[in-house]
Amino acid sequence: MSADLRTIITAIGNGDDVPDRASATAAGVPQTRLHIDGAWVNAQDGGLLPVIDPATGADIVEVSEARASDVDRAVTAARRAFDDGPWSELTPVERSRVLWRIAELIDARRDEFARLVTLEHGKPYKQALAADVAGAIAMFEYFAGMATQLNGRKVSLTFSNDFHAYTEMVPHGVCGLIVPWNYPLSAPAWKLAPALAAGNTVVLKPAEATPLTALLLAEVCIEAGLPAGVLNVVPGYGPTAGAALAGHPGVDKVSFTGSTTTGRAIAAAALENFQRLTLELGGKSPNIILDDADLDEAVIGAALGVFSNMGEQCVAGTRLYVHEPVYEEVLERFAGLAAQLPVGDGFAPDTVIGPLVSAEHRARVAGYVDAGISDGARVMSGGQPIDGEGNYFQPTVFADATSQMSILREEIFGPVVVVTPFSDLDQVAGMANDSPYGLAAGIWTQSLSTAHLLGRRLRAGIVWVNCYGVFDPGLPFGGFKRSGWGREMGTEVIQEYTETRSTAIRLR
Ligand code: NAD
Repeated sequence: MSADLRTIITAIGNGDDVPDRASATAAGVPQTRLHIDGAWVNAQDGGLLPVIDPATGADIVEVSEARASDVDRAVTAARRAFDDGPWSELTPVERSRVLWRIAELIDARRDEFARLVTLEHGKPYKQALAADVAGAIAMFEYFAGMATQLNGRKVSLTFSNDFHAYTEMVPHGVCGLIVPWNYPLSAPAWKLAPALAAGNTVVLKPAEATPLTALLLAEVCIEAGLPAGVLNVVPGYGPTAGAALAGHPGVDKVSFTGSTTTGRAIAAAALENFQRLTLELGGKSPNIILDDADLDEAVIGAALGVFSNMGEQCVAGTRLYVHEPVYEEVLERFAGLAAQLPVGDGFAPDTVIGPLVSAEHRARVAGYVDAGISDGARVMSGGQPIDGEGNYFQPTVFADATSQMSILREEIFGPVVVVTPFSDLDQVAGMANDSPYGLAAGIWTQSLSTAHLLGRRLRAGIVWVNCYGVFDPGLPFGGFKRSGWGREMGTEVIQEYTETRSTAIRLR
């Protein structure tokens, strides 16, 4: 085994201590009904949504499928919970304690959460623990602290000293949170923790492929002491449940993570009621290796940047730009590494890359790869679905693509990367910015000046230098251009979940 492969396996591979598939599936599924107004309820029309195991194609379970009338019930419950104030009228420290307790309870059930994430999404169990579970715990802990720090400011009016003027941060009211399937626990947590910290109530619509983890999160939130109606969870399909939530007049704020196409539909729906909107959308992120980089670190970093979570990451570094003097060496080493990455069941001890989330999604990824081949790009490794049960796809590395090819322009959302040489900083800055997206970027160099000079030219919401995919609740995250509107995390996210109210009092 090469040193590169050993490092990747240590970073994102499973190990001997993962639960086996039989015990993971035998544990069963905790919740399968909608969570509305503090109760577990069936969909009004009795509809059911199958949850399919991406590793086998078999049905795991059916959950209640929310439609417009169920979403309406959920919004009504959230509205009442907000207007009657059991949550927004708690003191900040009381809200903080509930958020902290949610973090503790997720931690206490971390294995159960990680099993569910792997079962319904497919990612390796260790990645579920590291990204979803640890990420969610960190969010609730951080925003437990933030709940006690939501202060306005005293304002000195310019024209008179005879006023006492100040601002307050006021919760929006009811937030509709719509999330994708690639991080079944941390995607909801990124929105839920700051929304609750600010005193909002919530209706959460998880992705149709991954409702189970979100329902377990609701169970944990009730146990932590969240009052009835403050969090409602309505699994369902996008065009029915999602659209009903996005356009609902009882919803004050919509925060959406998903594709740019769906984001456009959500923005159109929000226009009717001028709902406040956060959009975290797609990406096609550049990862740039300079000739002075530590190539051992850069090759590993580039592989982690695109292949972790099977490439089903909005920030995936799918456009790898390599400085000409080291291009051939990096390409050969990187493609060789990709070809060796173990692909398999998310519960198998040696898995680094699990199945893609669904058969439809795998067909979409395969369509992009086929288009790249027929456009004339060269496959350096992978390029094929893997025969047999499960939605497996080989980690795929392309070279010799031109900038207009769809593999370099469109988000594939799978383990597919294009490697392209560049001659100097001007050229690579132009190449990196030649995209409708602007979510993330990576730079690998040992020169501080190069990192700064290049970094400030990149039109991306987050730039990683000598690292990739570093997230933290304190670090704001969001995109330029068609990658979205607004920010998640950091103190900045509080702006997304509050209105500012100004008060001026005349003193006499
Ligand atoms: P998607 O847009 O198809 O679905 C996302 C969510 O929106 C799902 O819950 C879906 O049911 C719902 N939805 C679909 N149509 C809807 C409609 N008309 N009205 C309301 N809701 C609707 O995206 P996906 O395939 O689930 O996820 C992959 C996408 O998410 C990728 O484009 C990826 O880049 C993006 N993503 C972005 C970020 C980020 O932070 N920028 C993070 C993760 C994923």
